[in-house]
Amino acid sequence: MKKFILYILVLASYLTTHSQTYITHASLVDPVTQKTLPDQTIVYKDGKILQVAASAKIKLPKGATVIDATGKWVMPGMVDAHVHFFQTGGIYTRPDGIDLRKYKPYEQEIAWYKQHMEQQLRRYTAAGITTVIDDGTTPALLQQRDTFATKDYAPRIYMAGPLISTEYVPPVFDSLPVPDKPIYAVSSGEQAVQKLTTEYPYHPDFIKIWYIVLNPNVKDGAEKNLPSVKATIAEAHAHGYKIAVHATERITAQLAVEAGADFLVHNVEDEVVDDAFVKLLKSHGTVLCPTLVVMDGYFDTFGGHFVATPEDMTLGDPEQLGSLLDFTHMQDSAIVKRYLTISRLRAKRTAQQDSNRLVNLKKLADGGVIIATGTDAGNIGTLHASSFFKEMRTMQQAGLSNWQIITASTLGGAKALGKETVFGSIRPGLSADMLILNADPVADLAGLQKLETVIQRGVLFHPDSLLHLTPVEIIQQQDNAYNAHDLERFLSYYSDTASVYAFPDKLLARGKDNLRKFYGFVSQLPDLHVAIRDRTVLKNRIIDHEAGLAGGQKFEGTAIYEVEGGKIIRLYLVE
Ligand SMILES: [Zn+2]
Repeated sequence: MKKFILYILVLASYLTTHSQTYITHASLVDPVTQKTLPDQTIVYKDGKILQVAASAKIKLPKGATVIDATGKWVMPGMVDAHVHFFQTGGIYTRPDGIDLRKYKPYEQEIAWYKQHMEQQLRRYTAAGITTVIDDGTTPALLQQRDTFATKDYAPRIYMAGPLISTEYVPPVFDSLPVPDKPIYAVSSGEQAVQKLTTEYPYHPDFIKIWYIVLNPNVKDGAEKNLPSVKATIAEAHAHGYKIAVHATERITAQLAVEAGADFLVHNVEDEVVDDAFVKLLKSHGTVLCPTLVVMDGYFDTFGGHFVATPEDMTLGDPEQLGSLLDFTHMQDSAIVKRYLTISRLRAKRTAQQDSNRLVNLKKLADGGVIIATGTDAGNIGTLHASSFFKEMRTMQQAGLSNWQIITASTLGGAKALGKETVFGSIRPGLSADMLILNADPVADLAGLQKLETVIQRGVLFHPDSLLHLTPVEIIQQQDNAYNAHDLERFLSYYSDTASVYAFPDKLLARGKDNLRKFYGFVSQLPDLHVAIRDRTVLKNRIIDHEAGLAGGQKFEGTAIYEVEGGKIIRLYLVE
């Protein structure tokens, strides 16, 4: 009998994968025409879109698999055109930016991002991001990429090889063994070409240049480094690779585009660009990724005012988010003070850069330059998957329309690598990467959060089913909500009948309502913070040694949690 049921299950999943599926009566969000088409039916099979037409024109065969999308919106899966899987988004991930290696050796950070790549990929899919473009990675991660190519839950992954830098490599990266090296410096065209030949065996999807200029005279420095850029572009193009370039000054961006760069991975931030620059990018078909939030991620964290967005709390990695929230409460206050100062100095110096980025984005987008939404996720304070929504909201602040933002977040990302015939819109022949939404994302981008179903290369997922939180991650999310002073979210990690005891058996509170009273202080004490000094995990039991601050008072203690069915059912507090 068991065997028979298994057979039926296998057959059912075979049929849903290999027979035609009809999404009927959908409002179709089309970035190509920037129009929403009413009452459309989309037919797909084996991961490919076969037909898109008005529902009245498509006859449903008997027994067809039908997804009724009446009252729903269907749009292409989104694309984050700028991420880095060799970075975790947490406080320990860039020792060249802030050196905390005495707390966490960098080797541990490398091991973490390798072990958690599946989880990070699941977060992207759960966010409705069905393609990620990693703009510079390591040979080890390029090999990992290949293992995810056949995994249904994983977004489509494109990766550049290690960055080719025009003059500088942070020493912490330079000393790493080859498989973990994300960046190389070259000082001539010949060296650049030689470096590229070492990348080919790992099959990068494109090549990335870090067009850095250290000379305070940017124009002179840019011209001195131009031969390396030109040689890299010519060599990579000759081998059929697209070229992405990091160039944040107007002059480096201009020289890179004139030399044939396909994709600028950041916006120009040193000046407001003129019409000639807009025309240059438009005539070359160069795609630009504005990355508006990444610098704030660093300096909000260093300044002690990192605020987790609602998406960070639900989609972000709990451990890395925790590391950001803990930073100002680290024991080494000398480090914290130093970075508070750096953050303050930076705020004055770079307000102009922030403003230039926004002004330039509006000018370039309105001038017809192809924009691709990208976060630079993985950098400190920019968490994988969740930061995409903050980036889109910031594009809105720059003055872009919702259509411009949705187009940049789907079709624009595909165009960044010349893949618009593979994904990025809902057209026959393209991959069946689609989102079914319960609200109109064009009327309000918040509609993107009303995500009912993600279709990843023809496979259906409910977003919640993608994230399997471990007991430790549940406890850490609860800690993050506590540190963000969000009482209701904090309580959401407890079961309805959860109990809190003073160890060993004195009941302090039982049930949600009593827990809400008992923990009322969470939303009332502005300085409230708890950091984990030491954590022991025994299956579903987690023992945390905690040190914290509440109402000006320091406290220390041990908490013993029991997790069952994805919720905390018991907590013992040991003084
Ligand atoms: Zn980057």
